[in-house]
This record gives sequence, C-alpha cells and structure tokens, in this order.
Amino acid sequence: MSNPISKSKLKKLAKLSIKTGVNLQKGQNLIISAPIEALPLVREVTKQAYKAGAGLVTCFYNDDKMSLLRYKYANDESFDKAPSWLFEGMAKAFDENTARLAIIGENPQLLANEDADKVGRANKALSNAGAPVRERITAFNINWNIIAYPSADWAKLVFPKESKKQAIKKLANAIFASSYADTKDPIATWEQHNKNLAKRAKWLNEQNFSALHFKAKGTDLVVGLADGHEWAGGAAEAKNGTICNANIPSEEVFTTPHAQKVDGYVSSTKPLSHQGSLIDNIKVTFKNGKIIEASASKGEEILLKVLDIDEGARRLGEVALVPHSSPISQSGILFYNTLFDENASCHIALGQCYSKCFVDNENITKAQVKQQGGNSSAIHIDWMIGSSDMDIDGITKAGEKVPVFRKGEWA
Ligand code: ZN
Ligand code: ZN
Repeated sequence: MSNPISKSKLKKLAKLSIKTGVNLQKGQNLIISAPIEALPLVREVTKQAYKAGAGLVTCFYNDDKMSLLRYKYANDESFDKAPSWLFEGMAKAFDENTARLAIIGENPQLLANEDADKVGRANKALSNAGAPVRERITAFNINWNIIAYPSADWAKLVFPKESKKQAIKKLANAIFASSYADTKDPIATWEQHNKNLAKRAKWLNEQNFSALHFKAKGTDLVVGLADGHEWAGGAAEAKNGTICNANIPSEEVFTTPHAQKVDGYVSSTKPLSHQGSLIDNIKVTFKNGKIIEASASKGEEILLKVLDIDEGARRLGEVALVPHSSPISQSGILFYNTLFDENASCHIALGQCYSKCFVDNENITKAQVKQQGGNSSAIHIDWMIGSSDMDIDGITKAGEKVPVFRKGEWA
C-alpha cells in the first residue's frame, strides 16, 4: 500500500514546526510527545531539530491500544494513578531550558465505551500529576509548539464514509492546509499570518474593554476581562526570550477573562473531545464567574466530573475570538480535536489561565495573576461557542458598547 500521506508536505510540516513553531535554538534540547503512529513525523522533526543545532532530542510515545488494555485488565486502584515522576522530570528539563513539541493524533473517542467513573478518575489523576508541566507551559517559561499527525482511527472518525487509506489522505491534506504547510514557503506564510493576528490583538488592546458580550442562539453571556489583561495571537515570546508559535494551526486572538465576572448562559457549537471522550451540546450558566448549572446531550457524566476536579474548573481561564470565515471553518470539516476546531470558532476555556495574557507578564507573580482575576486550575479545556450568527460587543470602561463581531465576522 502506497503511503497516503504526502512525504514532501510532511517534511514541510516538520521544518515549519522546528523553525516557526518551536523555533528551536542552537544547543537547546527538545522533548517530543507523540502517538506511536506519528513515528514518520517524529523522525522528520528529529532530523530538522538536529540540523537546527539541537542538543538532545527525546521522544515519549503513547499508544491508544495500551490505554485500552488498562481499561480491560487493570485493577481498580490503577485509575487513580498517573506517572508524576515523568511530569516532574519534564518540569526539571523545562527549568533547564528544554523546548517542547507535542504531536497530537490520538483517537478522539478512544474511551467512549469505557466506564465513566474510571475515565473521570484517570483524567483527574493525570491532570493533577501534570500540574508542574502545565504551569510551565501556560506561563511560556520555554518555547513550545503543538502540531498534528493524521492517525488512522482519528481519520476514520473525521471521514467515516471513506476507506482507511482515503480517510488518512484527506485528514493529512486538511492538516497540511490548515497549518499552511502546503504553501510554497510555509515559513514566510506564517510570518504574514502572524502580522495579521498581531494587528487584531493590537486593536483589542487599544480598546482595553472591560467585558465582552456574546450573543447567539443559545448564548447570552457577558465575559468580564481580567484587570490588566492583554490580547495575544500568533507568535509569542517565551520567558527564555525565544519567539515561538505555540499552536499550528492557529487563527485565534485570545486573552484572560476575569474569574469572578462571567454571567449568563452559553451553548457549545461543536462537540468537544476531552481525553478520549466526546462531550456534545454543552449548556452552562454562569453566576459571578462560576458555573452553577451544566448539561450536555452526550458525555454529561464526564463533563460534570471535569467541573468537579477543583475550584477553578468551574471558572473561565481563556476567551478567544476566531472569525467564522477562518480557513478551518471554511473547510467545513469537524476535526473532533480542539487544536483544529478551536481555530474554526470563537471559544472559551475552563480552568487555568495564561499568565502570558497580562500586561507586564514577564514579571507578574502568581499572586498578582489571581488578584487581577486570573483563574487557576488543574485543567485547561477549550470549547467552541462561535457560529455564523454570533454577535459580540465590547463593553468599554465607561459602559459603552463597541461592535466587535457581527454574524460571526469581525465588525
Ligand atoms: Zn484558545
Ligand atoms: Zn486554550
């Protein structure tokens, strides 16, 4: 069977990841995590990393089949365990200025038929053990990047009517297109793309809104913004001084909401895949920043368990604006993966905020982030709320309304 994934485009994606995504510096070490199926991409990335002068490249693989074996054979206590030693080791590596690349491609509904209690406990253990890594990444201590690889099970979920080979080919091409890895010069394309996103972020920063009002079918939500919040989008400077593009693809501009000042109700517009479970038609009501009511047509049990992980899990840590005309949205493909679907739609995230999204973020302390309204939690889960009928108003400090989005597009 010939390979359905274009080798030349895979090479371009690998190079884009190392040069523009991670922007790996000479002598810098790199930690990669990837599904075992992504081996061809991992090897291309490794080659590019060493060509760019990497110190040492280390990869940790995960395997969907191994995950399922746990649910089939492990004893009950297994589901409260997570490899904290691994996350502590990674945290140590980041403190020594190691860069990070996450390659995603797992089956989004891998655990759909497993016991919800076990899935919830395993998620919780993993979220808690992962805290040292998540903190360093959300604070951009080091340069990092996420890209995707078209694994077979994921491809079959996105294109259920196609043969396995055809599905992989289609998903591969959709990944390359939305990542701009199929353009003539992907690195130059991203330079221009970053400029466009920076322009949007600059405008929002100049407006310095105190809140955003989202209105659409099933949604009437006022999201207060954190004191001293800053909008970001595209390239970002990590604390080690390296400018990276954390997400490839990325179409969003985003900032930190105020954890105490979110009121109203909101409905999701795309299914959310969370750690192998699909959660669909989410509806939640906020009062003083906290979710007081939540439901979902599918995966409700998982959603409710997520909300109970800790105090911050019921509050927002991110709000992001993406026009409905974004290329990923235009493709009409539902990826069942947040890296893609969040870039097709305005979204909000439950849990941990980005301390990066504050004015003077290089010097801001954890206590200041909290005092200015930034949320903290063991989770950070983006979910999609945008649609072609979404209107957004910015509310100024004086209480005036400024149109930001009309019918899903920049006003
Ligand atoms: Zn986002
Ligand atoms: Zn997010």
